[in-house]
Amino acid sequence: MAAQDTLRSSPGQSARPTDATGDEAEVIVLGAGIAGIAAASALARQGRRVILIAQHERHPPEFRAEKLGEPQMRLFDKMGLGEAARAATTGFDGVWLHRFGRIADRNTRREYGCDYARLVDGLRAALPPTVRIVVGRTDSIETNPSRQTVRLRDGRNLTARLLVVATGLGEEVRRGLGLRKEMVSPAHTLAAGFTLTRPPGDFPFPSLVWTGEQFGDRVSYLTLFPVGGTMRANLYVYRTPSDAWSRDFRLAPEAMLRALMPTLEETFGEIRVDGPVVLRPIDLYRVRDHERDGFVVVGDAFSTSCPITGTGIDKALTDVDRLCHVHMPHWLATPGMGASKLASFYADPVKQARDRSALRVSLDARSIKIETSLRWKLKRVKSATLVRMLYRLPANRFMERR
Ligand SMILES: Cc1cc2nc3c(=O)[nH]c(=O)nc-3n(C[C@H](O)[C@H](O)[C@H](O)COP(=O)(O)OP(=O)(O)OC[C@H]3O[C@@H](n4cnc5c(N)ncnc54)[C@H](O)[C@@H]3O)c2cc1C
Repeated sequence: MAAQDTLRSSPGQSARPTDATGDEAEVIVLGAGIAGIAAASALARQGRRVILIAQHERHPPEFRAEKLGEPQMRLFDKMGLGEAARAATTGFDGVWLHRFGRIADRNTRREYGCDYARLVDGLRAALPPTVRIVVGRTDSIETNPSRQTVRLRDGRNLTARLLVVATGLGEEVRRGLGLRKEMVSPAHTLAAGFTLTRPPGDFPFPSLVWTGEQFGDRVSYLTLFPVGGTMRANLYVYRTPSDAWSRDFRLAPEAMLRALMPTLEETFGEIRVDGPVVLRPIDLYRVRDHERDGFVVVGDAFSTSCPITGTGIDKALTDVDRLCHVHMPHWLATPGMGASKLASFYADPVKQARDRSALRVSLDARSIKIETSLRWKLKRVKSATLVRMLYRLPANRFMERR
């Protein structure tokens, strides 16, 4: 796509012109997903001159995060995007949790359902007008300790003191910058997204989490939650897209759900799927060789976590929060953007703790479901006992079966 300045607009909102201040800025943010938009917003609100490079005028439809909680909303608030995030999502108050054969818990926690593209577009429309959005494809990037240049395919050069790489799962920019991608757990999880025919008002719960019922089913959980007037479903399993299971689920989701969760329909009535099932495999990875002159890497571009844990958005926004509110003010106040200076972001204890815990829960959630070693069997028994005590559930009826 040819690079061009863009008008920022969203359905129901009038387009407003971007602040055309030339091809030079203090910071270029590359990638207009959650992390990139949040970074552009946080920096512009500090009076920084920011160019945000987006691949598309609007985020294309994509099966990504569809549920978030109040902690993530508070991070959006910190970036000046809370109102837009709430407006682009569907709030609901409560989760019913089904474990070991019964509804074990009914909390009233506030959560939000969303269509990812609509959320990203809503956030983008709420950016301060001083953020200059450039829509275009990157041709090449030159980085050094003082000046970063992004050349777009239409030949235009954009320059800044610092480049923030927020290109999510995209490989092109990481590869171009010579970053190494270390696979931590390939095909870690398979996510299935689909919509139910019955609307949210037809169900007695605000939202539902129904955990896998048997040890061998490789199901982490099914969650049902409202997005607008529809009831959305995300099912997380430990399988790969090439498994026969995946083909069967795509072809006959209702029958497969009935077999996996025999009491779901007995409890809540017939479950019918409206439209296609979208399957998406998730790799866990992190980048290496990233401590370099002139740029920092944030969000999914830096590392991924398993969506089962609901940590992806939190991790991306924690990166942006620490980068823009803690480190960048110091960096921009002194000359140079050498690797040793930028290393403070990667060494940030809050970022490191967030990344570590997201990875640990991602790995543990899978192991406790599918590992057969004695260590994980014991952990499974311990965890089941604790859950039973916590929710006062009867023992053993649904204990490990193979
Ligand atoms: C199926 C699935 C379900 C998930 N569910 C959840 C959930 O329930 N809760 C949760 O918290 N997390 C969830 N996640 C994770 C969450 O979606 C991500 O962690 C989060 O969206 C990362 O945001 P990001 O800004 O880093 O990346 P993205 O939002 O992907 O943004 C990257 C942007 O960079 C752009 N880009 C790429 N290459 C270039 C280029 N060369 N030039 C310019 N722009 C470029 C892309 O177009 C995109 O706009 C889920 C993920 C998946 C796959």
